[in-house]
Amino acid sequence: MNPFTYHTAAAVDEAVREKAGHAGAQFIAGGTNIIDLMKENVERPPHLIGLGKLPLSDITDAPDGGLRLGATATNADTAWHPEVQKRYPLLSQAILAGASPQLRNMATNGGNLLQRTRCYYFYDVATPCNKRQPGSGCAALGGYNRVHGILGTSEQCIATYPSDMAVGLAALAPTVQVQGPRGARSIPFRDFHRLPGTTPHLDNNLQSGELITSIDLPPQGFNQHFTYLKLRDRTSYAFALVSVAVGLELEGNVIREARLALGGVAHKPWRDESAEDLLRGEPATEATFRRAAQHVVRDARGYEHNSFKIEQARRAIVRALKQATEMTQPLNANVFLNSNT
Ligand SMILES: Cc1cc2nc3c(=O)[nH]c(=O)nc-3n(C[C@H](O)[C@H](O)[C@H](O)COP(=O)(O)OP(=O)(O)OC[C@H]3O[C@@H](n4cnc5c(N)ncnc54)[C@H](O)[C@@H]3O)c2cc1C
Ligand code: SF4
Repeated sequence: MNPFTYHTAAAVDEAVREKAGHAGAQFIAGGTNIIDLMKENVERPPHLIGLGKLPLSDITDAPDGGLRLGATATNADTAWHPEVQKRYPLLSQAILAGASPQLRNMATNGGNLLQRTRCYYFYDVATPCNKRQPGSGCAALGGYNRVHGILGTSEQCIATYPSDMAVGLAALAPTVQVQGPRGARSIPFRDFHRLPGTTPHLDNNLQSGELITSIDLPPQGFNQHFTYLKLRDRTSYAFALVSVAVGLELEGNVIREARLALGGVAHKPWRDESAEDLLRGEPATEATFRRAAQHVVRDARGYEHNSFKIEQARRAIVRALKQATEMTQPLNANVFLNSNT
């Protein structure tokens, strides 16, 4: 047991000050990830700053017609919020595809974005891991890499980012509002998470001491044609092998606007804007979907145990685009597909 001190912050400024004043301090929201990391000795913060009393748990209309999701609103309250269900059902589906009801009751929106990879070696402090200990090596490259990435990987890290919520968000393109020692700023969602490159220890582009205050959704919610398709080893309580978030705007059978993002394949939610370009203006047919799917995996690279994900991703994209076009899936359907099928 590593000793640590604890402080509950009642205001955003106080939380930011408290973090700046304690080297190595960490925020704790629902605690569903950070406590596990502390138990496994992956993270050893000497000081924790509780966010549970901050006034950031509301979900409110934004002046631009969008919706502001407070950073400490729980995943459950967000997924079941009437405005989220009505205007952003894709996000609701993505959140409800993750974890379990008990975890979603604790997990917060800010914490969800900052949850860390589920790479087995990252959690095993007896193995080399460049993300946990820069320069130590990557045990997954020559190890058991079934759950690892196929897109945007590097020679230093092939981990995937595990959040379902974030894949739904990537398709909706919100902004993340943060407050830090140097003031407030707004980060477009596409720039929030990072690829591993030569700095796999950095998961995102937050600067030191910054606190997420909200996630601001734009007005366009794609609530007529959408889906979140999650493929995994069992139907609940499992992370995605591959997931696909789709939002479409259709005029007759023609695609006017398209959003396409993947989870389980990369170090960040993988939104492919050039594949979206291929969909725009085209008929919503299987041939169009196949072209877009092939385009998304054009640079995919499989490793010893995860090459199946390339074909799995291609098929999942086609299926998700079809589901979103026809709206054939029931709300909150979480689809089981064994990775070997
Ligand atoms: C068994 C299990 C199964 C799971 N399955 C899934 C799944 O299928 N899909 C899925 O998406 N997730 C899954 N999860 C992960 C779960 O969704 C995350 O653990 C949760 O969302 C984290 O939120 P939290 O509030 O508990 O974060 P915490 O654990 O409190 O914090 C996580 C990190 O975020 C930081 N942080 C928290 N809030 C803020 C803030 N406002 N600003 C800045 N930093 C902050 C903390 O310092 C910490 O580093 C699973 C978790 C478990 C334990
Ligand atoms: S894939 Fe990344 S997280 Fe996993 S062992 Fe390699 S460096 Fe660590």
